[in-house]
This record gives sequence, C-alpha cells and structure tokens, in this order.
Amino acid sequence: MLLKEIKNIFHRELDAIYQKEEVSSFFYLLIEHYVGLQRFILVIEPNLTVTKKEESPLFEALSKLKLNIPIQHIIGKTEFMDLEFIVNKNVLIPRPETEELVRWILSEIEDHQAELKILDIGTGSGCIPISLAKHLPNAKVFTLDVSNKAITVAKENASINKVSVTFIQESILEIDTLNMEFDIVVSNPPYVRELEKTEMNDNVLKHEPELALFVSDENPLVFYKKITDFASHNLTENGKLYFEINQYLGKETTLLLEEKFSAIELRQDMFGNNRMLKGIKN
Ligand code: GLN
Repeated sequence: MLLKEIKNIFHRELDAIYQKEEVSSFFYLLIEHYVGLQRFILVIEPNLTVTKKEESPLFEALSKLKLNIPIQHIIGKTEFMDLEFIVNKNVLIPRPETEELVRWILSEIEDHQAELKILDIGTGSGCIPISLAKHLPNAKVFTLDVSNKAITVAKENASINKVSVTFIQESILEIDTLNMEFDIVVSNPPYVRELEKTEMNDNVLKHEPELALFVSDENPLVFYKKITDFASHNLTENGKLYFEINQYLGKETTLLLEEKFSAIELRQDMFGNNRMLKGIKN
C-alpha cells in the first residue's frame, strides 16, 4: 500500500480522538520504529509503498491508539533527556516537565565531576536518577520506590543507559530516615487530586499507574510533607531539595517547604504552570 494512504487512514481514524499534529507525530514515530523510515521520507518519496508485512504493525498500532493506549506503550519505549527508557503500565511515562526539573538540578551543580550523593524518591521508570547519573559520572545515586514492578523496569533502564544506581524498595511514607546524608534529594511524587481526574485523558487514566499519580483530595500534600521532613534529616548542611509539584498547589507546597527550608524558589514549566520547587537546608 502507498505509505501516504496509510497516513490518510491514520488521520481519518484518529483525528477525532487526538490533535491532528499528534496523529502525524504518532504516524512518523511508528514508521520509524517498525519500518525504519525517517520522518521526511514522504517529502523525498511521496509515492513510496510498503509491503503487507511492513504495514501490519502500523495497523495494529492504529487499533491500539483507538483504544487510547499510549504510543509509548505501543512501541515500549520513550525518550527522556535524549536517553532511551523502556516503559510499561507499571511506571509513569516520563513527562517533559520532569526533564525541566532534571535540567534545573544539573544547571545548579557547578562541578559535574563532583562526588555528590543524590537521592531520588519515587523511581518510576528511573528517568530522574538515571539521567542524573548519566550527567554526573562520579555521583552516587540512590533511588527509592514502593513498587517492585517499577524497580524492575528502572533497573533495566539503568542497564540500557549504562549507569549504576542503587535501588531501595521501600515506601517513603513508612520510613523516617535512611541513616545517610545526601547533597541533593529530588522527588516527583504522586500529586494529582481525585478531583482533577475530570481534566485528564483516557490514555493516562486507563493506562498509567494510579499509584504513581493520585492522592486524595483531603490530603494532597501527603508525600510533600513526609519528604520535606525526611529531607530535613537526610540532607547535608546546605543540601538541596527539589520537587516537581501540582500546578494548582504552588502556594500550599511553598508554604510547607518554608517550615523547614530556606531560599525557596518556585519555577514554572514551559507551559507557564507552577511546576518545580527548591529549598536549601540550613
Ligand atoms: N504530571 C503528571 C500528569 O499530569 C503527574 C505526575 C505526578 O503525579 N507526579 O499526568
């Protein structure tokens, strides 16, 4: 079949569910993944045809996209900080906002060769600890997650990306200290309130782990309270705590951090939402 015909079918079937540009980007990602074709191929060869064998995974992916299965689950991987991460239903798909958090942390470390001790709380796919470890070759990076299944995925990602990270399977809500001091503690904990579910798409609601996303409407800062407390005991003097936060709770989360930390800085993400927070221990 002509490749451009397949592209038209994608638009015909999916433009009602997704944005048009999103559908195009799915299509190009899929032809790259399954057929090994570059995204500009149709400009160079507008009448390129693909074989039955080549087109079949494309149509299978189309059916999955109709069911709101995330494209990252279909191809089994995604990119974060220019690194490859495998993902599945047991881990949150890395978000571009989280990349901004990692870039912020890296931008504030003067010497990337320093022997820093870093703890990430809530590993998920491992995108935060692994990308930090990649950029900070002499850092000792630790990461903690309650989910064994998430840790399995993250361990594989550490190995794909050739970094060494220490994994701790533990619920942050259950422990008060690790009896270790860190220079940096970072976390992107669950922060979406139940009441915000109405704003969310089915691809997130039906296919991403609730455990990694949701908190109760009554106590949405439960993880922030615990981690702030934990970090105040487990950070070195002048150690830094970084959070990804709920955009609607910037003020509340800032106030909470102010109880134990100083030099608080709240930052917006690329969409202009309050998304990142930092404090220094002293
Ligand atoms: N930013 C994510 C989302 O909106 C949520 C991440 C989190 O809960 N830590 O889907």
